Amino acid sequence: MRVLLANCGAIVSGRLDAPLADGDSILVEDELVREVGFGISPDRADRVIDVRGATVVPGLIDTHSHPVIGDFTPRQNAVGWTARTLNGGVTSLVSAGETHWPGRQKDGAEAAAICAAAFLTSRTRQPGCSRVFGGALLLDRGITEQDLDTLHALGVRRLGEIGLGSEKDVSRIAELVAHAKSLGWVAPLHFGGASVPGSSVVDAGMALRIRPTVISHANGGPTARPVEEAFALIEETEVAIELVFAGNAQVASQIVRKLGERGELHRLQFGTDTPSGTGVVPLALLRTITEAASLGGLDPVQALAIASGVAAARYGLLSPSGNPLGVIEAGAQADLVVLSNPLGSETASAFDAMSNGNVPAVMVVLVDGEIVITRSSVTPPPEHAASLGGLA
Ligand SMILES: [Zn+2]
Repeated sequence: MRVLLANCGAIVSGRLDAPLADGDSILVEDELVREVGFGISPDRADRVIDVRGATVVPGLIDTHSHPVIGDFTPRQNAVGWTARTLNGGVTSLVSAGETHWPGRQKDGAEAAAICAAAFLTSRTRQPGCSRVFGGALLLDRGITEQDLDTLHALGVRRLGEIGLGSEKDVSRIAELVAHAKSLGWVAPLHFGGASVPGSSVVDAGMALRIRPTVISHANGGPTARPVEEAFALIEETEVAIELVFAGNAQVASQIVRKLGERGELHRLQFGTDTPSGTGVVPLALLRTITEAASLGGLDPVQALAIASGVAAARYGLLSPSGNPLGVIEAGAQADLVVLSNPLGSETASAFDAMSNGNVPAVMVVLVDGEIVITRSSVTPPPEHAASLGGLA
């Protein structure tokens, strides 16, 4: 099956150093992007989608999700949430820990078992749903270096949010984090106030002792630390800085400006920290990057690259068959989202809508080269509907 996306007004590459790809058309063959260029002939495709000047971006990646099992979240007692996020343009959800697993008693053996189960059962994408990269080990009391080695052999590559587990001895946490980093794992730290009952306050001093690879929700999840603490971590470390929907939007905008001034936008990543007490919010990621653009002064093209290719590279995300995610170029997995100026906006493009503070419309979504959404159930309608073509 070959699908051509034609008349693209802009194509976001997912690469921060060259965030716009040259071209107005994308040829998809089976699960891969085959070619990006100008005027690719419709004769080469079985189906042509005319996006009528809309913007094509790599499938968005939420770096801070809290899945449990499949499409059910016990935190909000909701089913169907990963189908809604797909309608919001998020093709990949990265677990920051299966914190909401019912009945957790927070001991090490249980944490390792939950991580293994979540990792193994999320390897297959459920029809109509976002991909889930599940299995992020929470550092509960009793976790050992050997547990990390065993999970590494299984394929696990992430800690859950450090600070949420029952291990509270900062020296011991730092040892386990160092071991995780030696295995090449991503090690995100819950930074800020306590989130839900049973979690802890983590300040900049603790962050400097634990030495994570990501400051999760630098704008609080949901409660922010004083912005000066986030600035100190930006200045005194080189770690990644995450901003989330379920945090403090005012602090987020200050952090975006700070990183922009320092020429360090490559350190940014965007997550939602949902499902959580904040809810199940299908537009959370699009809203967060729109706020970074409208309130933080971030170029929407860069914001979209950070929310796709930058995140995929940092987390080492690949499709099940080993192809790159988060970029639009020949050989990449064809996870594509068409974004449009929303109907009724005073602006004329998805980028301008975002700079203006309006969430763009999701027009079409492809995952693994398959057209999975032709009318988002959660965004406003696009200014012009795509012409979906038929099979040639
Ligand atoms: Zn957190």
